[in-house]
Amino acid sequence: MSAQTVFISGANGYIAQHTVVQLLKKGYNVVGQVRSAAKGDALAKDLKNSHFSYEVVEVLEQEGAFDEALTKHPEVTVFLHTASPATFSAEDNERDVIIPAVNGTKNVLKSIKKVAPQIKKVIVTSSAVAAGDINELEDPKFVGGEDTWNPITYEEAVKGDPVAAYQGSKKFAELAAWDFVKAEKPNFKLTTVLPVYVFGPQAFVSGLKSLNLTAQVVANILDLKRDDAVPAMENSFADVRDIALGHIAAFENDTAAGKRLLITSGRFNFQRIVDIVRESFPKLADKLPVGTPASKNIFDHYNKLNDSNAREVVGIEYIPLEKTIVDHIGQILENRN
Ligand code: NAP
Repeated sequence: MSAQTVFISGANGYIAQHTVVQLLKKGYNVVGQVRSAAKGDALAKDLKNSHFSYEVVEVLEQEGAFDEALTKHPEVTVFLHTASPATFSAEDNERDVIIPAVNGTKNVLKSIKKVAPQIKKVIVTSSAVAAGDINELEDPKFVGGEDTWNPITYEEAVKGDPVAAYQGSKKFAELAAWDFVKAEKPNFKLTTVLPVYVFGPQAFVSGLKSLNLTAQVVANILDLKRDDAVPAMENSFADVRDIALGHIAAFENDTAAGKRLLITSGRFNFQRIVDIVRESFPKLADKLPVGTPASKNIFDHYNKLNDSNAREVVGIEYIPLEKTIVDHIGQILENRN
């Protein structure tokens, strides 16, 4: 039997690149969607694998956007939809973030139903911010996860700040996917993957040239000076390699069908990240602020997000914060001029 072919949108993204690498390692053929031939060529150059090819779809929110790409690839049986504006800055919330996310998701699903009925599994990358407001998720007492929804309204997402736009884009895109399945009864089973803050190294060092939003959050630590305060931010994190694995487990494992999989390794705060960097990279120990070093067990008494579907489907011990940060920062340091 020939290998299964997986189509992945946003193939050049931070999470998607790791997913493509893992898919190819497992023997799948991969067709990646990118927004330009230059991005497709750059990824193909890094991958160096004849089982990868790409299709250019420039504008996700255009009706029928994926018809041509999917018609060209009748061998595709799995679709991973990761492409979405992953940004906390937008000039126009609705135009730049919400519409590409929501209509992009609807267009993917409509195209699959119309021209690719052989596709049996669709995985949509949602976000923990679809499950809870970002401030709720910061709160160690928050109860929720795979069984909850961010209370944000569409109007609040349109009129709020860019973070509200992002939260709304993920919530309403995920809801649109579940509504589509309910109303249209397509041939495929849907699973959504809800990552928390995703950290960890780039799949390829070329990715270091322009880090995505969350990889940049960790990299920013390196710009802190000895006398700076350690930023107060905290939340939940997962390693990008586990998120990639989660996308694959989501279609390989039939029990994931119809489920939301919230993937989180645990909590982080900037103090712990600074502690890890100072302990692991002695050259930086005197350059970075000390703050108030924290025990690694400080999060033990925090509520855990409800991630039981994902824990069952993914079925591995997730990568801990220490390894994620050492690999993330280590890759940056090794490749600095
Ligand atoms: P990323 O590196 O910025 O990748 C985003 C991908 O989506 C890129 O391929 C990008 O294409 C594409 N994209 C962005 N805006 C688009 C638009 N308007 N039209 C078409 N394509 C667009 O970010 P990532 O972290 O890997 O994000 C991948 C997915 O994971 C997203 O759905 C994001 O919401 C979700 N997620 C990420 C995190 C996290 O912490 N990183 C957490 C939860 C959920 P270009 O390269 O051409 O811009």
